[in-house]
Amino acid sequence: VRESGHEVIPERVETVDGRSVEVAANVGGEAELAPAAERGADGIGLFRTEFLFVDREAPPSEDEQYAAVTTALSAFPDDRVVVRTLDVGGDKPVPYLDLPEEPNPFLGRRGIRLSLDEHADLFETQLRALLRAAATEDGDGLAVMFPLVTRVEEVERAVDAVESVADDLAAEGVDHAVPELGAMVETPAAAFLADALAERLDFLSVGTNDLAGYVMAADRGNDAVADYHDPLHPAVMRALDRTTAAAEGSDAWVGMCGEMAGDPALTELLVGLGFDELSMSAVTVPEVKARVREVDADAAASLANEALACETRGEVLDVLEIGERDA
Ligand code: PEP
Ligand code: MG
Repeated sequence: VRESGHEVIPERVETVDGRSVEVAANVGGEAELAPAAERGADGIGLFRTEFLFVDREAPPSEDEQYAAVTTALSAFPDDRVVVRTLDVGGDKPVPYLDLPEEPNPFLGRRGIRLSLDEHADLFETQLRALLRAAATEDGDGLAVMFPLVTRVEEVERAVDAVESVADDLAAEGVDHAVPELGAMVETPAAAFLADALAERLDFLSVGTNDLAGYVMAADRGNDAVADYHDPLHPAVMRALDRTTAAAEGSDAWVGMCGEMAGDPALTELLVGLGFDELSMSAVTVPEVKARVREVDADAAASLANEALACETRGEVLDVLEIGERDA
């Protein structure tokens, strides 16, 4: 991650022609909340809850999770805080969950799959904490998203689980509210089904770290294929376009929370593709905000169309007028 050295812009930003783009921060632990606020992030676009579950012997209690989420909400009382439900498996093992060895964990039980099946108990506890947090003073801005979605039925089951937790809390007389609900688009299946997902949810958020891996059949952690793991590959570009076009045809908003969102050289392209929100490591927030202010949305849309017509990474780099770089 680069140190940008750019001036902090605490307020919201828009393009020169008035399209607002939220520039939020990815947060992976409580220590990252203050730096995100100091760098002027418009809230949290990805709150990775895994930090609550790793390096310990048992899962966190409902109250512990509630405390972590309300702390995040109070760091951004006027902004949206998008909390991702537990995303383990694959590259993110948790010993006490007893996940059996899999020959190919990135194509195995990861993300929402574990929450809906093997670990429905953990999912329920997490949802209870989240729905309670949504009813607190700063809870209006809470949004909850589900990782590694590949099926419409997963979204339907996740939404049913939220409704059932809401019913339980109501029956117990516990204060709660149902937050905005969304899905991560980080598999080709989710990108192809983005219209169906957007119809059922309040928002979509593209995780380009995984999406580039699955579109390109290149493990995100394997240096030997690092140049295949390429968010600027035309196939990834078209998956992004499919997702933003689906959101545009619905009431859902669409964001991006993969590493790609934090690259200021790509801000114009991403605005042109139609992203409403970009979420990134806090360090790049000031530079991306400054960049949004220089973008003309119509020119950006033309640039995106040119990029979408490309057939190779080299052509995309030429269209973007950026030199060869790491994937
Ligand atoms: C992604 O896959 O792009 C993403 C944001 O999620 P993570 O990096 O936590 O898998
Ligand atoms: Mg991911």
